[in-house]
Amino acid sequence: MSKKRGTLFVLSGPSGVGKGTVCKALDKDALNMEISVSMTTRKPRVNEIPGVSYHFVSVEEFNKTIEEDGFMEYAGFSDNAYGTPKAPVLKWLEEGKNVLLEIETKGARQVMDKYPEACTIFLLPPSREELENRLRGRGTEDEASIQKRLARSLDEIPLKTLYKYNVINGELEATAKEISDIIKAEGNV
Ligand code: 5GP
Repeated sequence: MSKKRGTLFVLSGPSGVGKGTVCKALDKDALNMEISVSMTTRKPRVNEIPGVSYHFVSVEEFNKTIEEDGFMEYAGFSDNAYGTPKAPVLKWLEEGKNVLLEIETKGARQVMDKYPEACTIFLLPPSREELENRLRGRGTEDEASIQKRLARSLDEIPLKTLYKYNVINGELEATAKEISDIIKAEGNV
């Protein structure tokens, strides 16, 4: 592996746009890349694996990590807190690995301020209808919270201008290829 530092990538975009699905479709090994595992106060959903999907922690533990300056960024989302543990990310970058953060837009703003060298990617839905379908398709939320997420997601779309790359998430395979090409061009691959 080359001795060059890795590149920090941020993949953000509105809720329901499919960030998580796109992340899972990326070939981490081919991209010399690690995907950061976030800390959250949210309860695990079925099929989520502690330590793999998220580090599921109490509010006390989350607040302690804030006090210890242990996050690269953190934000509240839908009554829960989410944050990126700093130490593993800095270690991977030092080792020459590229690192991808899959985070919502407030956290992405913090990363842009603190780490201006980060390569930022904003994922867009192909249309409003498709975004609504995707939010609904999860089947995990009631109508009121779907409408709340949809309104917030639509409000976030103008933030796309702050990002280096805008990618429309139409067909999964094509999106994954587009993001892989960005990582190959910008990262230590
Ligand atoms: P979910 O609860 O559906 O897993 O995630 C809710 C939102 O939180 C998603 O938009 C996801 O990208 C975002 N998220 C996950 N981890 C982090 C994190 O470490 N920091 C921030 N700021 N957002 C995160």
